Amino acid sequence: MKLNKYQNMLLGIAIGDAFGASYEMQPWPKISKQLHLSSYHGLNNRKQGTYTDDTQMSIAVAELLISDKEFTKENLAEKFVECYKRDPHQGYAKGFQNFLESVSSGEEFLEKINSNSIRNGAAMRSVPLGVLSNLEDIIKYAKINASITHNTPKGITSSVCVATVSHYVFHKLGEYKDIFDFCIDSCQGLDNESISFFERLKNRGCLEPLLLFGENHADFGVPCDGMRTAGAVLYLVSKSKGNLEKSLTKSILLGGDTDSTASIVCGIIAINEGLNSLPSFLFDKLENDKYGRDYLISLGQQLSAK
Ligand SMILES: [Mg+2]
Repeated sequence: MKLNKYQNMLLGIAIGDAFGASYEMQPWPKISKQLHLSSYHGLNNRKQGTYTDDTQMSIAVAELLISDKEFTKENLAEKFVECYKRDPHQGYAKGFQNFLESVSSGEEFLEKINSNSIRNGAAMRSVPLGVLSNLEDIIKYAKINASITHNTPKGITSSVCVATVSHYVFHKLGEYKDIFDFCIDSCQGLDNESISFFERLKNRGCLEPLLLFGENHADFGVPCDGMRTAGAVLYLVSKSKGNLEKSLTKSILLGGDTDSTASIVCGIIAINEGLNSLPSFLFDKLENDKYGRDYLISLGQQLSAK
């Protein structure tokens, strides 16, 4: 099947998420021993090929971009509630899942949400924003996206960073290895600590766990933290040379929040490289209920038509 860039992106997000979810928060020796690109079965008992919050919320963002509605906090919150309620998925943080269960509209969501998180929930759903052609719009939308749930300098910066990595790749603004400068420029003025972290990562030739994961997580992997996740994405995309299979494997080997890292990275690399380099089970066994594989393909088609 010939897929366009939008479809590749959405399927990349879901495949990275569904595969990465089986290795989430597991000790490194276990991951490296059991990481086989041969089935969706990993180290936990997830149903094969099911995606998590990363994909579901990215679908919500994509659906709002396709709709004729304005990209506002209200409309996006409404989409988050709608997408969860019509097809509840596992993988959300427990507290946030309980919150989604408890609200019935976007208005109620915004009224009751505690939006001061610095975790990676805004970053993980920002990849679809990269398709927009105007960088100012992307930064504006990425800020709106973060402000609903992660209205902190770090939460906002992580959302802008991921959206601009996606934009850079989608519109082929340069080579993968040169991704850092574009994103650092796009994040100027948002959060000094994040920017100096991205700068330090850029200047390192090889992986330094202590730097990438932070002192408290050096033995653990990518924490569920917006700044660290954005840094891991910059690092992996900059080193990827467009190799999707290797990028998926490396995303998992970093450990920690593997589904978010793999979802973002695979969504971005798949845009131009497609999915053909991946073992076919990743596509064939991806969930395909009402909002699964075929739905993502149709959503990508609609996004490209828009
Ligand atoms: Mg997840």
